[in-house]
Amino acid sequence: MKKMLIFILIASVSLLMMVEECESIEKEIKPVLRICILDNKDRVTLALKGAYRVYTVTQDKLLTGGYILHTQVNPSDQGIMFGARGLKFTRIRLKVAEGAFIHIDGRAFRGEVDIIRKDNMKIMAINRVTLEEYLYGVLYNEVSHRWPIEAIKAQAIAARTFALYQARQNKLQDYDMTNDIYSQVYSGAASERWSTTRAVKLTASKILTYQGDIFPAYYHATCAGRTEDASNLWAVDLAPLKGVECQFCKESPHYKWTKNIPPAGLEKKLNDSGYKVGKIKSISVLAKNKSGRVDKIEIKDEADISSILTAKDFRQLIGPNDMRSTTFTPSVNNGSLIMDGVGWGHGVGMCQWGAKGMAEHGKKYDEILKYYYPGTEISTIDKKSK
Ligand SMILES: [Zn+2]
Repeated sequence: MKKMLIFILIASVSLLMMVEECESIEKEIKPVLRICILDNKDRVTLALKGAYRVYTVTQDKLLTGGYILHTQVNPSDQGIMFGARGLKFTRIRLKVAEGAFIHIDGRAFRGEVDIIRKDNMKIMAINRVTLEEYLYGVLYNEVSHRWPIEAIKAQAIAARTFALYQARQNKLQDYDMTNDIYSQVYSGAASERWSTTRAVKLTASKILTYQGDIFPAYYHATCAGRTEDASNLWAVDLAPLKGVECQFCKESPHYKWTKNIPPAGLEKKLNDSGYKVGKIKSISVLAKNKSGRVDKIEIKDEADISSILTAKDFRQLIGPNDMRSTTFTPSVNNGSLIMDGVGWGHGVGMCQWGAKGMAEHGKKYDEILKYYYPGTEISTIDKKSK
């Protein structure tokens, strides 16, 4: 009897330990990200298919629920108008059954969604989604789902690492990331594809670390010869982000570009940003950095008044999708401003078209990542990562 009791005691303790261990592993490998999916809207439309529940965010108190819902959410003085029902809360949380989607303004999202009525009486929505489900909705926007699987796997690990780093940086903010190019482009369930989801699953929980810790694993479309040293752009001075030669992105459709810029539009943008520029006479490159990208330019107007800008600011001013990189040669021809450039993106970290080129040459995802982020290791998510 005594032996039996001891056995039961030992068994229960080990079971408890196992449960605790499982719970902690569960928490570690399934971090939840908070993605701002829309902001400053006057109203949003919701479609919830299947069982749904609406809770308060702060107390997790059930407010309402049901089965199938199509409704509008509007801001109100008291809080939120949920269809015809006034809720005296400025933050609510929508939950649906496992595997179901929450449709907001026609877009489908996995996980939960917080609707927030802001002080300016506008609506913000934050998607709470596991890291892996988030990646399902990111990869298709970042690389082609038709690319070799090793390149997509490399992208999955870079995006996972970048997301975790952002989440750690923004812990105290309302959300970890936006859903646009300023974080990683995320459009929910509509952008999931078989091969990109497969790449996420094949690399589940794998991340990149440098000296045992995650780091901002930046990436970009096409470097056109050499990746950029992050310290030329931001206050990031890290060995894996110092830049490497890249001979693998030559097939990229973004390797070369030309942009014709209307002078009047640029003159207005410059003056709106505090520069004093008349009719532009010339644009010249003042300095380049080690990767061949332009560092500073000088713009002279017809009165010979000179304005000096960093190439980074100049690119932002024109628009990062029109002015695809800072590797360019400017010229003024019969009053037209012409930028002849190469590459697309800031140039830091992994070159996506280069990763594709490497995969086509038989390189595996870990070789691709270690090439573009020298000195890093492939690790698995643990407590340190979040
Ligand atoms: Zn490249």
